[in-house]
Amino acid sequence: MNTHKTSSHPLPQPARRVYCNRTLNMRSIEAIGFDMDYTLIHYRAEAWEQAAYEHLRGSLVKQGWPVKKLRFDPDAVILGLVLDLEHGNLVKANRFGFIKQALHGTKALNFDKRRALYSRSLVDLHEPRWAFLNTLFSMSEACMYAQLVDLLDKGALAKNMSYAGLHRVVRENLDVAHMEGSLKACIMARPEDYVVLDEDLPLVLQDFKQAGKKLLLITNSEWSYTQHMMAYAFDHYLPAGQTWRDLFDLVVVSARKPAFFAGRNPFFKVIDQEGRLLPQQGALEPGAAYLGGDAGQVEAHLGLTGEQILYVGDHIFADVNVSKNLLRWRTALIIRDLEDELEALENNLSRRDDIAKLMEEKEQAEHDMVHMRLELQRHKQDYGPKPKTPPSKLRQKIQSLKSRIQGIDDKLSPLLKEQGKMHNSQWGLLLRTGNDKSHLARQIEGNADLYTSRVSNLGSITPFGFLRSPRTSLPHDLDKSVN
Ligand code: IMP
Ligand code: MG
Repeated sequence: MNTHKTSSHPLPQPARRVYCNRTLNMRSIEAIGFDMDYTLIHYRAEAWEQAAYEHLRGSLVKQGWPVKKLRFDPDAVILGLVLDLEHGNLVKANRFGFIKQALHGTKALNFDKRRALYSRSLVDLHEPRWAFLNTLFSMSEACMYAQLVDLLDKGALAKNMSYAGLHRVVRENLDVAHMEGSLKACIMARPEDYVVLDEDLPLVLQDFKQAGKKLLLITNSEWSYTQHMMAYAFDHYLPAGQTWRDLFDLVVVSARKPAFFAGRNPFFKVIDQEGRLLPQQGALEPGAAYLGGDAGQVEAHLGLTGEQILYVGDHIFADVNVSKNLLRWRTALIIRDLEDELEALENNLSRRDDIAKLMEEKEQAEHDMVHMRLELQRHKQDYGPKPKTPPSKLRQKIQSLKSRIQGIDDKLSPLLKEQGKMHNSQWGLLLRTGNDKSHLARQIEGNADLYTSRVSNLGSITPFGFLRSPRTSLPHDLDKSVN
């Protein structure tokens, strides 16, 4: 996609574009549902997760775990990694599920160990052995888990504890931290330390609303937190007298996604600012706020079906996978780290070209070498057409090709090493494992019709835009520039 500089409305920078996996006409979307946390409201993930980690560590300390000295490491984990609960590892897999990088606890597994452990296993998220890091809220969980694996290996924890058991403890304590109130109270007391405001967003939501689309807020957060944080993030930017509530035709808190998309659950109406509730009798009321419920009743209330509703969220499983697969809602995934990823890719363009040239040279040299080997074999074993080059000459040529390939590898290796550190020095890019797509990229491709770094980027699409999925590449494509 080229930005036409002469256009009155140039396309946004790559980092702020909306990318399309499945063609979508905004005009045929009648309602847009939004998740709140890390979607309408973006947090400084290091700060939020540091706070979550400290609450988690605090509750483990109270239960006698020797974790007082542990520290949160915000660079230890990226979105889309997978925990292997059988072996206490953190892994990055490619689109087929093959494991390409692995840590045991916090320590890297070398190539031989990784191969010994994983040459026969594929990541299959249907199996309980694997825990996918679906959202930035998973960073504290994975960091603590890896550190506890180190402690277990050192013999510092109960001997009968398994790696899977450790994960259960982390999950249970993190659930409590998210639910019991003191973590959220810290965030609400100083939202300016945790929230990255987006002043473009309120106008974008108004644009969609004024175009006749129904706007819904569907969040797993509880009422008090939702109302506090939405007021902080939106009210200041809205016309005088309006609040965030005026933007939404329906607000659902404590939605319990993914169950919200799967079953039938009662709605409770939030009847005042304090969040007092009454069971909802009969049809839902426009503009009201509810707790619980389910997506089927929302569809009935709106008189709409899957293809007419776009749901925008950051949680790969609970927000986009389930809403798409069970209800066929159209989906948009918000990945803030895409901005950093695209910046890293742009800065890497000249290195990428150097790598491509060297790879082309290497492939040609390898091709020549294997054919000379074949000629030598035919000569030695006396079959097939007589080789034109005598065997001594062939041996010489093979030798010189070998050293040429070694020379190319010596040049490639530091370039590839540097390339592998883009975005995160340990794990590299979110959406790539080496040359291949990452497991995360595969999930996005399969479940998110659109993906973009922040909700306000939808402003460039407008309520009338048509998003076309690009022609996708195949290994036999003649024009490699489409890759
Ligand atoms: P949403 O993204 O707006 O649906 O809201 C996410 C909500 O889930 C927030 O209130 C988080 O505190 C909460 N949450 C995130 N991770 C966990 C967890 O591991 N256990 C329990 N609640 C969580
Ligand atoms: Mg969210």
